[in-house]
Amino acid sequence: MIAATIDGKKISQDIRTKVENRVVKMKNNGVIPGLAVVLVGDNQASKTYVAMKQKACEKMGIHSVLIELPGDLTEQQLLDQVIELNQDDAIHGILVQLPLPNHIDEVNVIESIDPKKDVDGFHPINAGRLMTGGEAFFPCTPYGIIEMLKNQKIELNGKHAVVVGRSNIVGKPMGQLLLKENATVTYCHSRTKDLAYHTKQADVVIAAVGVRHMITADHIKKGAVVIDVGMNRDNDGKLCGDVDYEGCLSKASAITPVPGGVGPMTITMLLANTVESAERSFAR
Ligand code: NDP
Repeated sequence: MIAATIDGKKISQDIRTKVENRVVKMKNNGVIPGLAVVLVGDNQASKTYVAMKQKACEKMGIHSVLIELPGDLTEQQLLDQVIELNQDDAIHGILVQLPLPNHIDEVNVIESIDPKKDVDGFHPINAGRLMTGGEAFFPCTPYGIIEMLKNQKIELNGKHAVVVGRSNIVGKPMGQLLLKENATVTYCHSRTKDLAYHTKQADVVIAAVGVRHMITADHIKKGAVVIDVGMNRDNDGKLCGDVDYEGCLSKASAITPVPGGVGPMTITMLLANTVESAERSFAR
């Protein structure tokens, strides 16, 4: 068996076309969806991500504002900036690019964002509602993975999904979203004993670890669906995932590549959340 490669670029393009139609519809109602991206300091990787997000917004006709702040600003100055954006009617989504400088408490900053504009889905209100239900935003990477699986008509109902990783931005919300789709969910992490024992039972394996090629063919059962969230660099600086893609190809039924798998979906869902926020605000 040779696994089907899940083309994240193509799926993401299909979703972007639909989101773009919603932008046009909003504009006809006199509302331009707006996203504010706050960048603190000059972390090069953050600058690259922010530039990608801005470019994607512009392409889609979403109004995007970049607020660049010096790395030595105080936490209060950053909180004041967020509060100003909370009150700005032209802004429907606020994203504070992480990580923040060490002297700033990320939790305080995330909690200062109006949950209705928290298009990253990191605010405790949104994280809580992911569990309990109600109007929420879901974190873009796991949300994108669910949309990707649905697009590929991969059944989750009653399937066993094993999530490797339990971060607040990927692993934990991933498990909750899979649970919402009626999967049976197992979480694994750095303290899990005999990781392969767990992953080998999975119909769907989600690798969100940050360790290059950690999930090999020996970690999966025949016919498993393998989703690779990892974004690591090999010795030559080339982007690679948490999964040994080549090794798993002959055993999995479907697999995402890196690059070109989960990555493109993340920004797409940020755009989708921003438009969703503008629609909700218009409805209110
Ligand atoms: P974190 O470092 O926050 O979390 C990593 C998780 O992996 C932790 O829960 C950790 O366990 C677990 N882990 C670490 N080592 C092992 C191990 N040997 N065995 C089992 N579990 C282990 O990372 P993120 O969740 O933020 O990101 C994960 C990966 O996904 C990274 O490569 C990141 O770059 C990538 N990423 C990609 C995105 C995309 O758009 N494609 C978006 C976001 C992230 P513990 O909790 O016990 O420490």
